[in-house]
Amino acid sequence: MVSNQNRHKIIITIDGKASTGKSTLAKKLAREFNYLHIDTGAMYRAVTFYALKHHKTKKNQVNMQGLIKNLHKVHIEFKFDRFRQRCFLNGIDVENQIRTMDVSDSVSYISTFSQVRSYLVGLQRLMGKNKAVVMEGRDIGTVVFPEAECKFFLIADPKIRAKRRFEELIQIGKKIDYNQVLSNVMDRDEIDQSRKHSPLKKAKDAIEIDVSNLNAQEVYFKVKHMIHQQLTS
Ligand code: C5P
Repeated sequence: MVSNQNRHKIIITIDGKASTGKSTLAKKLAREFNYLHIDTGAMYRAVTFYALKHHKTKKNQVNMQGLIKNLHKVHIEFKFDRFRQRCFLNGIDVENQIRTMDVSDSVSYISTFSQVRSYLVGLQRLMGKNKAVVMEGRDIGTVVFPEAECKFFLIADPKIRAKRRFEELIQIGKKIDYNQVLSNVMDRDEIDQSRKHSPLKKAKDAIEIDVSNLNAQEVYFKVKHMIHQQLTS
């Protein structure tokens, strides 16, 4: 096995539908390899949070023209404390605010706009320019880093995904209904898969893993083993 110090730096991409456990896996891999973990979903959520705050119309919709004109005012960075990565929007920690149902209900619509995507893809490429990164999202292996060395695509039954998401939200104290979570997960999948720009799909050279019947630790060991195999082959 190659030691962490001697191993050359690579890009690991993890794409997949909503709530397949991408973040949990990416976090563990980043810790194992001493890499940066970039949650691109958090970036789309941060833009959505900004839009809901600054560009809402009287009819409670997002004024996309206004948002697109002001995208340059959206500064996103990640800061890392001992336990987790936190997302900052214009210098303010918004890690909790970007996980609300309000944001979840609008994020996939806002993510369909090519201007939003190219702005964030630019930032993502900068964040990964030195490699040594585990980046998760929907289009990382296909669009952001098509040349990445190790690509994974996670799939799972929608009901299992919704149940996991529901339990996570309950754990952080959100009052929520399971059916609301299930329909949000399915709606987001549908929009993500059918949008014109960078739709969610498996990169040809990505390894697909069905995580429906695996727990987080099993997924992690499986993927870690595959990466070691790929690095030593
Ligand atoms: O990963 P997460 O579920 O938090 O992502 C929220 C939403 O952001 C997704 O449902 C998708 O619409 C959008 N997204 C995207 N491209 C990415 C990451 C997320 O369109 N690379």
